[in-house]
Amino acid sequence: MKHDFELAEWGETFMAAYSGGGCAGPRCTRCSTSFCVHCQPERMDEDCPAATAEGPRIEVKKIAAYFPMSNELAMEYGLIPDTRPPVVIPWRRRVRWAAQARVRRARLRVGSWVAGEDLDPDRYDYD
Ligand SMILES: [Zn+2]
Ligand SMILES: [Zn+2]
Repeated sequence: MKHDFELAEWGETFMAAYSGGGCAGPRCTRCSTSFCVHCQPERMDEDCPAATAEGPRIEVKKIAAYFPMSNELAMEYGLIPDTRPPVVIPWRRRVRWAAQARVRRARLRVGSWVAGEDLDPDRYDYD
């Protein structure tokens, strides 16, 4: 890929990007090289060392955004140490959950026996 020269306001290659001592020439926006078009006219057509075969260069900008977040949410995401008291589950509820789980397993066992195949996806977790 050739150099990607700076353009003048009127849309053509800006031939005075490089100048001095009677010399003048363009500058590549990709690799920043510049040269005198009179002394080195052949360079107008050379390959740009910064160009890649993948295509044109794209600009990538990194944007940081901030938004207010409650401490609770920050703790939830692990952004700050979790200083919340542990959630206490009443024993009655835990007993009920355990009972429900036993009933569910028993039902699945009966169901599996009736159906002739294993219906319980969690079988290996508790056997
Ligand atoms: Zn270049
Ligand atoms: Zn020159």
